[in-house]
Amino acid sequence: TPLIERDVVVIGAGPAGLMAAYTLKKAGKSVAVLEARNRVGGRTWSGKVQDDRGHEHFIEIGGQWISPDQTRLIELVEELGLATFSRYREGKNVYVSPDGTRHTYTGDQLPVAEETAAQIEKLIGLLDAKVAEMNVTQPWNMPDAEVLDSISFRDWLKQHSDDQEAIDNVSIYIASGMLTKPAHTFSALQAILMAASAGSFSNLVDEDFILDKRVVGGMQSVALKLAENLGNDVYLSSPVRQLNWATVDPQTADPLNQVLADVRNGVIDDGAPAEVTAYSDTVTVKAKNAVLAIPPNLYHRIQYVPALPREQMIAHQHISMGLVIKIHAVYETPFWRDKGLSGTGFGGGRMVQEVYDNTNYGPNLVDEHEGESPHGTLVSFVSDVHAETLWALPAAERKQCILEELATYLGDEALRPIAFYLSDMAAEEWTRGAYATSYDLGGLSRWGHLQNRPTGSIYYACSDIAAEGYQHVDGAIRQGENAAQRILARLQ
Ligand code: FAD
Repeated sequence: TPLIERDVVVIGAGPAGLMAAYTLKKAGKSVAVLEARNRVGGRTWSGKVQDDRGHEHFIEIGGQWISPDQTRLIELVEELGLATFSRYREGKNVYVSPDGTRHTYTGDQLPVAEETAAQIEKLIGLLDAKVAEMNVTQPWNMPDAEVLDSISFRDWLKQHSDDQEAIDNVSIYIASGMLTKPAHTFSALQAILMAASAGSFSNLVDEDFILDKRVVGGMQSVALKLAENLGNDVYLSSPVRQLNWATVDPQTADPLNQVLADVRNGVIDDGAPAEVTAYSDTVTVKAKNAVLAIPPNLYHRIQYVPALPREQMIAHQHISMGLVIKIHAVYETPFWRDKGLSGTGFGGGRMVQEVYDNTNYGPNLVDEHEGESPHGTLVSFVSDVHAETLWALPAAERKQCILEELATYLGDEALRPIAFYLSDMAAEEWTRGAYATSYDLGGLSRWGHLQNRPTGSIYYACSDIAAEGYQHVDGAIRQGENAAQRILARLQ
């Protein structure tokens, strides 16, 4: 493969990698972005699904919503000349209680028994108080970080309440709704970080806040616009297989060599630009620095020469992707609106725990018209163990199962979509799950401090190791920009 030289090689053309390259290029540095897939955007991805008549409908297979706390992304969307629109939320929401009874309601409070409502309020208050104690850039330095990291979120909730309905409905905002793992598999500290990264737990519970706006034309447009600015510097279908990051030859170097030991242990980071070489399927890039902008669960897919420091090799084995299926069901019309319903529905513990109106706006792939699409789209989610149960079913049965759930929330019209699509990021070689990665129990307090520490001249950037905007596009953008700024400071 051809060899090229650049100031910085960026690995991964998701929002984080592209933002890093965009920032570096604006500052006059030369870059090359190596992307494994044949498209940019990573976990943001616009698609289309065909209905029975062969008409195509626009969908967002990956990340799509922006909330008001995600200020860096909001600024960037504006800078790139993109527009946003609000999610439809007029009318009543639906709550399905554990016994399957359907209730409609308005406002933030779920229509549950008074006692359960009080327990929910208490748990939210406790979580908000913990969030206030956390510095989101260093969750591991919180006074009781180790204690909170040694107990699962489920057990922490159980310590404070014995009302299962309250626990289920608080838990969904973080477990199935965000980390997309069962609440017994990650720690209370990890849960508090999720809330802290969005400002507060109350923000997560406020669906008007957290799922506020979408980008006209889809969230992938952010990546596409950034890539447009980078022109030929983005190399698609170029998975990086090997990354040489220190000039010491590990084969011949004395294993007791102190320089090699210091580089591997991350002790050497004195600002002197070292050299890296990234080997991909289509091109080899030699550069002063690298930005590794891939999800942490994929770090081990690259061979590092020399090997990464041992503490990182251990830490990376304790970070894993969650699992969620994002479901689009397109209808002839947004029928729920005619019934005075917003399309929003919740049911803690159910297979489909959340559903929202996801009707498109603006000129899109299907209807080249301004304004809202005449068709109604619902988006809903099935997480963790429920997702596994669904994937084990034959396709027709799986679809029927989901549609029956949607009908429980919004009525029998939900049984007859004109188009239907399941996002399957867990089957994607270069993602392997959704929405993002998080640590095992105990991992965040033990290894979190390593996640943004450069290894020699390799800098890390990904939404999954972000503080503000953790696990979201905003966090990816902040991470990309931050890695670029650190490299710029070093190169000067
Ligand atoms: P990624 O987007 O994962 O990009 C990493 C890139 O690296 C990929 O393009 C990958 O192909 C590439 N890569 C991997 N390995 C290699 C290699 N060896 N060599 C070269 N390239 C490689 N966020 C929100 O803000 N709002 C939402 O509503 C939302 N909903 C979501 C729904 C779904 C279904 C999913 C999956 C995610 C959602 N997210 C949402 C999360 C958001 O999409 C991610 O946080 C964001 O895309 C992360 O950006 P990133 O650049 O850090 O990583």
